[in-house]
Parts: sequence; C-alpha cells; structure tokens
Amino acid sequence: MSETLTSSPTETSLDDFRAEVKTFLAANCPESMRQPILEESDTYFGGRNGTFKDADQEKWFNAMAARGWTTPEWPKKYGGGGLSKAEAKILKQEMRALGCRPPILSFGIWMLGPALLQFGTEEQREQYLPDIIQGKIRWCQGYSEPGAGSDLASLQTLALSSGDEYVVTGQKVWTSYADKADMIFALVRTDGSGKKQIGITFLLIDMEAEGVSTRPIKLISGKSPFCETFFDNVRVPKANVVGQENAGWTVAKYLLTHERSAISGAVDGDMMTPLSYYAKKSVGLTDGKLSDGLLRAQVAAWEIDGAGFKFTLDRINEEMKAGQAIGARSSFMKYYGSELNKRKYELRLDCQGRDALAWDGAEHNGGKIARQFCRTKGNSIEGGTSEIQLNIISKHILGLPS
Ligand SMILES: Cc1cc2nc3c(=O)[nH]c(=O)nc-3n(C[C@H](O)[C@H](O)[C@H](O)COP(=O)(O)OP(=O)(O)OC[C@H]3O[C@@H](n4cnc5c(N)ncnc54)[C@H](O)[C@@H]3O)c2cc1C
Repeated sequence: MSETLTSSPTETSLDDFRAEVKTFLAANCPESMRQPILEESDTYFGGRNGTFKDADQEKWFNAMAARGWTTPEWPKKYGGGGLSKAEAKILKQEMRALGCRPPILSFGIWMLGPALLQFGTEEQREQYLPDIIQGKIRWCQGYSEPGAGSDLASLQTLALSSGDEYVVTGQKVWTSYADKADMIFALVRTDGSGKKQIGITFLLIDMEAEGVSTRPIKLISGKSPFCETFFDNVRVPKANVVGQENAGWTVAKYLLTHERSAISGAVDGDMMTPLSYYAKKSVGLTDGKLSDGLLRAQVAAWEIDGAGFKFTLDRINEEMKAGQAIGARSSFMKYYGSELNKRKYELRLDCQGRDALAWDGAEHNGGKIARQFCRTKGNSIEGGTSEIQLNIISKHILGLPS
C-alpha cells in the first residue's frame, strides 16, 4: 500500500487497490475459509494459548496479520493496516463477495483497541495494540456483575488504592471466554461517595494475577462460552488504568458503542448467505417459486428487511467516513441486527421442519442449526438488551423524554 493511496485516494487508485485486494484474497483465502462460520472452532480467537483448527485457518490469519489487515484502519505505527476508510470499505466488500471469514474474532480488536486509541496513553498503545493486531493476546470484558447488568453503573467490584497499585475484590458475571482469556478489561469502583457513574475506573487486569479465578456457566445451547469471574485481593498496577481514575464511565460508554456496532456487523456478515438458499434446499420449487407459500412470504420479507438494514449500515458507514461519531446510532444497529438474526434462525428452523429439532448426530451436523438458534437469543441481551437499546434510541435519536 503506497503512502499516496492512503493519504489521497482517487478513483483510479481505489480501482488499483480493489484489484490488489482481489488478487490477494484469491491467493491467500483458502476455499474452506470462505464458508459460513457454524461453530466456534471455525474461527481463530488468538491469545497466548491460541490454537488453529487447521492449516487453512492458520494461513488465512497469518496472511491478513502480516498486512495489518486484521485491523485495516488502525495506524501503521502500531502494526495496523493504515488504510483509509474508502480502502477499508473495499477490503470489506471484496471479503464479503467471496464469503471470507474474519481472520480472527477478538474483543481486543472490536472493543478494547478503539478505547485505547481514544483514551489510552502512548505506553499503553505501544504495549497492547501490536499484540492485539497479531492475535497474541486474548481479552475478555469484565462489565456485568450479579447486581449490575442493564444498570451497569451500580457495579460494586472494589479497587482500593495501595501505593502505586489497586487491590481489587469482587465478582463479575457473564464474562465471555474468561477461562480462555489472557487479560480482562474491567470496570471497578474506586469511589463510592457520589453519583454512581462517577467513581468507576476502567482497569486492565492480567487473568494470571494471583487472586483471579473463573467458573464456566453452562448454557441452554449446551456450551459454556461464559463464566463467573472472581477477584480476591488482586494487586493491579495503577499504570493499567485507561483514561483517568474515577472517569472510567466515559471509556466504558465509548467502548460499548464499538461493541454494539461490532455485534450488528457480525450479524450483517452472517446475513450474506441468502435464506432462500436454505429454503429451496428444504422445500423445493414449484413453477420456479418456493413450494411453501407461507415460508416464501416470510423468507421474502426477511430478505427485504435484511437488504434495507444493509443499506442503512452502508449509509451510517458513509456518515462515519465523513467524520461523524457513531454515538447512539450503534444502539439502532445493535437492536435491529440482533432482532434480524433471531428472525433468521427461526426461519432456518422452519425451513428444516422436524429435522431442525435434531440436537446431536453427524447426519444433522451435530445439531448446529438448533444450537445456533439458541445462541441468537443471546444477541438481544449481550452488549445491552434490546429494551435498553430502545430506551437509548428513544432518548438520544428520537429526542423523547426519559
Ligand atoms: C451471550 C452473552 C454474552 C455476554 N458477554 C458478556 C461479557 O463478556 N462481559 C460482560 O460484562 N457481560 C456480558 N454479558 C452480560 C450482558 O451485558 C447482560 O446480560 C446485559 O447487560 C443485561 O443485564 P442482566 O443480565 O443483568 O439483565 P437485567 O439488567 O437484570 O435485565 C433483565 C430484563 O429487564 C429489562 N430491563 C432492565 N432495565 C430496563 C429498563 N431501564 N428499561 C426497560 N427494560 C429494562 C432488560 O431488558 C431485560 O429484559 C453477556 C450476555 C450474553 C447474553
């Protein structure tokens, strides 16, 4: 990527860039990495103990990481791709056209990285961003507590000052992949005397530090993707505060806008496999139309709504390209994307009829669709529930009273 392309993309240079991307993807994205993600091991999560499922996954990840394209728009000085927004959009479009899987799924990329770029010190950026880009460190998110979910600011995990360290004690819950993560970005209470949003600090904690423990929680889908996380007098350097002490709420909210748009983006990527493809396979065609009239109408309605959502995401991306902050629009994206994904999997079950009930067995692909259906129910809870997103939309986008 030449400097000229990055600083002032003309139509011709963007055409050249598109051609370069197509050639790169054709050569480096193996066929098996162009299939929908159906289970966790279909994607790479990175980390100190990260393992690849197979050689194709490793090849695809390494090729993207070598160019910094795991984070296309992050600055080159930290090892990111340094692409302009227009170039990053082209990369995304071409990956989507081929059905390429993301080379890595990383909370570091989706959530922490943007917060470090916005609020971190230069030392923190240099310490963490290159490892996030190269998939060497896996992060988890320590926000929710047993008494603080939607009402996040009520969190009670305490960080007491002790010289140049904090001593952290408390419990987090629903911490996705805490048992596999190397580090956690956590919200802790450093002052309980005033308004609850004030007195929260955003802290980076090593999961191997003495006093940190996790316990997996088993879900309806049969998996245990998240944990309870306990802190028992854990000593954490004050240098690990992102932003200012007691001002972590601002960092936390900024990170949530990235989490919410990432959840909607992931849903958007998944939507690229047309629902009509599965419907045709299951019920067949009569006179060129889906044989089941009701299913035909539902699939058509979903595909129209999906296309509308995709155009809306494109518009929001264009507005961001023009320098607008995403703000409360991330709530709209998260809300609608989650609800669409839930509808999609309900229809996928309808398409499969009674086969959809299969939970196990090789002939039913290990019950992947049924398990994925159960997982989509979590989409409208994680990152803030649908009701909370509607509250934010009504207040901050529609201007309605609280
Ligand atoms: C798949 C998944 C992954 C997750 N991963 C993580 C993670 O990695 N780290 C992390 O910290 N947390 C994680 N969470 C937790 C998630 O952020 C919380 O579950 C979520 O914020 C809701 O909090 P709660 O479960 O305490 O529910 P509550 O806050 O108790 O809500 C219960 C119900 O009441 C409704 N409600 C509450 N307040 C209002 C209101 N003011 N107006 C209208 N309705 C309201 C909610 O919408 C919901 O339906 C994850 C959750 C899921 C499902």
